[in-house]
Amino acid sequence: MAYDSENIFARILRGEIPCNKIYEDDHTLAFYDIAPQAETHVLVIPKGAYVSLDDFSEHASDVEIAALIKTVGKIARDLNLVEDGYRILSNMGKNGGQEVPHLHIHLFGGEPLGPMLTK
Ligand code: AMP
Repeated sequence: MAYDSENIFARILRGEIPCNKIYEDDHTLAFYDIAPQAETHVLVIPKGAYVSLDDFSEHASDVEIAALIKTVGKIARDLNLVEDGYRILSNMGKNGGQEVPHLHIHLFGGEPLGPMLTK
């Protein structure tokens, strides 16, 4: 999947449309999903133009890669998800059901999350 600079998360990063921001640093942005699928549903994205984890791991700098992981952990701690547990998930491409072609990590929590896959 090619990077489309008009994707919704690119537009959020450019400030063209709003988001419900939780945290931002030089390399990452965390915000609430607009259509939450759990009591707590956050998206963590890199600021760079990466479509997927394979793209990110091949082309991003070590600093960007570390920043994304650190932000996911920070959000889990800051939203008090650690004690009861939480789940991260990232959809890639057609089989992964990816809708927005900008790498994003879903962070779910706040309630029991059920089986890993629905099938
Ligand atoms: P995926 O199917 O993994 O690509 O997930 C895309 C996610 O982006 C979905 O959970 C959507 O609800 C979410 N989403 C789409 N537009 C927005 C937006 N403007 N602000 C926050 N979340 C969004």
